[in-house]
Amino acid sequence: MLIPIQSETPKFQCNACGSCCSHIRGIVPKEDREFLKQYVFGKLPVVQLAPVEQMTFPLWDWEAKRFKEWQHEVNVDARIKPLRAIMDLKSNKAIILTYFMDGLTDACPFLKNSKCSIYHTKRAYVCRLFPFNRSPFSISNPNRNNLFGECGAMEKILPNIPADFNNMVKFLNEAFPDGSFLNAVQNDIIIKWMNSAIVDLMRKKIIKPAINIPYDSILRRINNSEKIDFTDFLVEAGYLTEEEKKNLINRFDDNVEAKEKVNNYKNF
Ligand code: SF4
Ligand code: SF4
Repeated sequence: MLIPIQSETPKFQCNACGSCCSHIRGIVPKEDREFLKQYVFGKLPVVQLAPVEQMTFPLWDWEAKRFKEWQHEVNVDARIKPLRAIMDLKSNKAIILTYFMDGLTDACPFLKNSKCSIYHTKRAYVCRLFPFNRSPFSISNPNRNNLFGECGAMEKILPNIPADFNNMVKFLNEAFPDGSFLNAVQNDIIIKWMNSAIVDLMRKKIIKPAINIPYDSILRRINNSEKIDFTDFLVEAGYLTEEEKKNLINRFDDNVEAKEKVNNYKNF
């Protein structure tokens, strides 16, 4: 009698080599690099405050706040600096959207002896989504070549990724029990949320971003202005209550929207 063979989805297992945390500077995909160089140096509301070659992983403002606390607990100077901002001409404040760690080497400052010294914490989305660079929902024609960063533990996964989108989502959800897939999906959802919140703030005339200003001038103005984190600004401007802000960040932390999105694909 022939016994049917169950084909099991291979499971990703990080081998904790530390390689993805060793070179976090300038790791921007080529197409994103071109866009950044062309648009985020004074032409659009969002202004990049560090050269593309100097930047490292972006941290959301609430993540940067946590990193600033954790660095003291583990005796690290993570050199956390603003990465992207909006110069708001109405409030005359620089609204900080994301931060980055400008360490003294290309490695993450929290990496000690090839181990993350804050691994026991929530860390940041950029830490938890690797080996993904992005989710299949955020790119046209997602495939095994454009979803991931360099990771030596992908040999069982890559050849098995289905080409069909629905099957790909189902496969990725099963193949990454570490949650990295859901984290990648949620991080893309947060990017979209932030972009639409900025547009909504402009539409409602709550902010008036400085645009089309020579880069040197806008950088000087941002550096000399009072600064406020984006989510704190939303509360200050009455766009969210403090309670709503906390709930929003909790939902992000719990990947609520990503789970809802991916659940729709489970029965394919
Ligand atoms: S995700 Fe990949 S590159 Fe990063 S530590 Fe794990 S095995 Fe190494
Ligand atoms: S905080 Fe930890 S996981 Fe995140 S990049 Fe640094 S060393 Fe890697």
